[in-house]
Amino acid sequence: MTDLDTTALRTAVRHPRVTPWAAGTVLALCDEIDQLRAENGAARGEATAMGAYAREMKQGVTVRDAALDRVRALHRPVEVEPSDTICGECSYRLSNGRYFGKVEDYPCPTIRALDGAP
Ligand SMILES: [Zn+2]
Repeated sequence: MTDLDTTALRTAVRHPRVTPWAAGTVLALCDEIDQLRAENGAARGEATAMGAYAREMKQGVTVRDAALDRVRALHRPVEVEPSDTICGECSYRLSNGRYFGKVEDYPCPTIRALDGAP
């Protein structure tokens, strides 16, 4: 499809053999075409901006998810005798590998906060 040259059409309808009604109709159509072209250009610009924004948001979600994964890996569940599950990060661990003293049940407050649990 060829783009109509509305500037050329506006000039052409000034010819003496073009009736005032035809000239008025063509000029009105030219105005409408120009308006639609402007709106189309604005919409394309908005679509491009929205696409860029969506890509930024997706990148932000990826960074956030990676951070949450690191926190969950840090606050991992650890099975201890006799049959308890504790948070490996929040519980105190002796140099011999045994947990002693402050022992936090799993899920710990950090994981409960991430999960939205009370
Ligand atoms: Zn923890």
